Amino acid sequence: MAGMLYLVPTPIGNLGDISQRCRETLEQADFIAAEDTRVTLKLLNHLGIKKSLVSYYEHNKTFKGDQIVQRILGGETCALVSDAGSPAISDPGEDLVKQCAQAGIVVCAIPGPCAAITALSISGQATGRFCFEGFLSTAKKSRREHLESLRQETRTMIFYEAPHKLAATLEDLAQCFGEDRPISLCRELTKLHEEVIRTTLGGAISFYAENPPKGEFVLVVAGAPEAEKETASQDDAAARLAQLLDQGLSRKDAVKQTAKELSLPKNTVYDIAVSLAPEE
Ligand code: SAM
Repeated sequence: MAGMLYLVPTPIGNLGDISQRCRETLEQADFIAAEDTRVTLKLLNHLGIKKSLVSYYEHNKTFKGDQIVQRILGGETCALVSDAGSPAISDPGEDLVKQCAQAGIVVCAIPGPCAAITALSISGQATGRFCFEGFLSTAKKSRREHLESLRQETRTMIFYEAPHKLAATLEDLAQCFGEDRPISLCRELTKLHEEVIRTTLGGAISFYAENPPKGEFVLVVAGAPEAEKETASQDDAAARLAQLLDQGLSRKDAVKQTAKELSLPKNTVYDIAVSLAPEE
């Protein structure tokens, strides 16, 4: 009979956050797959658990994933851990879960620490609807495209960031969302120097220019107000219509194409087209 894959979350700072169920799962697993075996060994020593460890990280995941799947199919149970927090969330694991699911292996995720959810809960921002955006790419093009795709996002947005990249990220966020957009900067969660700064993007830029950032950060950025979203999409429609009309499209075709591209009702786009050029 095949074994199972358990996703075991580990503390993001406070060792007291390891749950009884996580402890038991680590104890009972046949082996543990860890992002960094040295980091996990420290945790296991703290818990008094001795267990065979294999490494599973970004650059060996394809090859190691196959090996892990074979061992589980052979009847062993694997507990997957990352350095901190929930495996598979901006951490290795996503692919292993996919591989196991494809092989018909049962995957069980144990709930536990996750920096994104911990930060959202204490951010003071709207929590009813949110989106997790992970780390912004350091590559200019994909970073710009990622931010561009969020320009009209009305849900609360959650980003991960390292301290040495914080200043540049705040500048880019301010350029995309405006300096007045509220942000909660959640730092060193569950640790001795846990801190939440609730301010605006402009306020955060000024604050961290004076106080160099230290520790790990989750940025919780308020979504765009609905009214702002409407104005933005009308501006976008007007700009696109002007472009298409310039290219020689008829008003009817320009309206049809703009409505399709921006997912706006044709009537709305038609009204904008008329306001741009009352006479055709
Ligand atoms: N899988 C992890 C989770 O569930 O939270 C996230 C791993 S990701 C590689 C690491 C990022 O999570 C850090 O750069 C930081 O943005 C955030 N993070 C992790 N621990 C944190 C903490 N104690 N306080 C604030 N942010 C933290």
